[in-house]
Amino acid sequence: MSERMSGTLVSQKIQTEIAAELQIWIQKKWMMPKLSVILVGEDPASQVYVGHKEKMCQALGFSSEVIRLNAEVSESEIISEIQKLNLDTHVDGILIQLPLPSHINERLVLETVSADKDADCLTEKNLGRLLTGTAKVLPCTPSGVIEIFKFYKINLLGKNIAVIGRSLIVGLPLFQLLTKENATVTLFHSKSENLKQQIKNFDIVCVAIGKPEFFKATDFKVDAVVIDVGIHRIENKLTGDVNFTEFKNLKAYTPVPGGVGPTTIAILMKNTLALAKERRQK
Ligand code: NAD
Repeated sequence: MSERMSGTLVSQKIQTEIAAELQIWIQKKWMMPKLSVILVGEDPASQVYVGHKEKMCQALGFSSEVIRLNAEVSESEIISEIQKLNLDTHVDGILIQLPLPSHINERLVLETVSADKDADCLTEKNLGRLLTGTAKVLPCTPSGVIEIFKFYKINLLGKNIAVIGRSLIVGLPLFQLLTKENATVTLFHSKSENLKQQIKNFDIVCVAIGKPEFFKATDFKVDAVVIDVGIHRIENKLTGDVNFTEFKNLKAYTPVPGGVGPTTIAILMKNTLALAKERRQK
């Protein structure tokens, strides 16, 4: 039977763990963690994601703020906002909601975030730490994928896993985290030849290509486990990189919505808590 792996359940588990830790914070009279999000422009999807992040902060008792900048804002204005957040002793985690408008150098902006407040592990320093195994927090989406595997007891050790997509925010760090779990990982991307033929060989496939319903469930091996990272809003309906209508050949899969998305946000909270804890203990 095919299992629908609920990211919402994984998210709830992570939130329960955070709430339990916050009980200790209350006893210690520590200030609650604070997450600051920078949102540039009016992209409807980004507005929705930021709304979800704010809601989870509220539910957990975190402080949060969203700094909204208009789409025409200059690079130097964004950088100056980030510098203020870096210096603000009340701010524990900073998240730059991506994508940024095309006139902004994304790498330059991300690099301005203090590595100690980098809640999505996107600075060069923290990406380097990810490789050396010394990262304080892990990138939210890939780390959430690992949590889903663990929650559903999917054995990764020694498994041949395909990751499709090589972005710095999903594919590459996911490759690294799965390798750390002792899987044998193959990274596919837009220049890979015979992709649909090749993925038939993998028991576990993580798809993060950003193309709505590019794959269908029957493109994968019988009894494969498929993680769909993609998220797209089409005519007000959410869908992923995979169309799971005929999912019965699969062992397990993550739906969109209700899969990787909620887990990603819960990890953002976990990361903010970890960064805040480090600051409280200083
Ligand atoms: P991206 O556009 O930065 O990267 C896409 C990658 O896919 C590239 O490396 C490219 O080489 C590869 N690719 C593109 N077309 C391909 C093809 N036909 N065959 C094989 N590889 C191909 O995207 P991203 O930021 O990594 O995001 C990927 C998807 O995941 C998007 O839909 C995004 O919205 C979604 N996403 C979801 C979450 C979440 O929390 N659920 C978080 C981040 C991203």
